[in-house]
Amino acid sequence: MTPSQLSGEFEKLVRQAEAHCGRSLEVALVLWKPEAFPYPRNYAFCSNPRYGAEFGAWKGCCSICVAPKILQADTARVHGVLMHEIGHAVDFLCTPGHPNHGSERRADDIAQQIWGIPIKYDKDTVQSTCCGVHPRPAHLGL
Ligand SMILES: [Zn+2]
Repeated sequence: MTPSQLSGEFEKLVRQAEAHCGRSLEVALVLWKPEAFPYPRNYAFCSNPRYGAEFGAWKGCCSICVAPKILQADTARVHGVLMHEIGHAVDFLCTPGHPNHGSERRADDIAQQIWGIPIKYDKDTVQSTCCGVHPRPAHLGL
């Protein structure tokens, strides 16, 4: 997938999340530096909107930073990762107080509410829309 195809997929998912939430979502996709993703299972993270500007977007915006290796991933992984991260962004932007506790499974629950499919964890413990286990295994952190 090229960077512009990735942006296209991201924009489509954000529009669907906005339609579900009934509001606009301040969220940006940032292709981030590979050093920020030290482990094989690390593909992306979502910044607290307070720190959006530190990740190449702007203050008040959730930056969804993705590893360059996501461009080599299959579509089910790309969608699983992006849906999970958009789940975090919706949680940050729309849950009052956005408690940290339980935020990983909450991100998956929000994604499932929006898209109607469970976020699975594949053989590499990376999010996927097609393959693996659901809910998120506890050893990955909840
Ligand atoms: Zn997460």
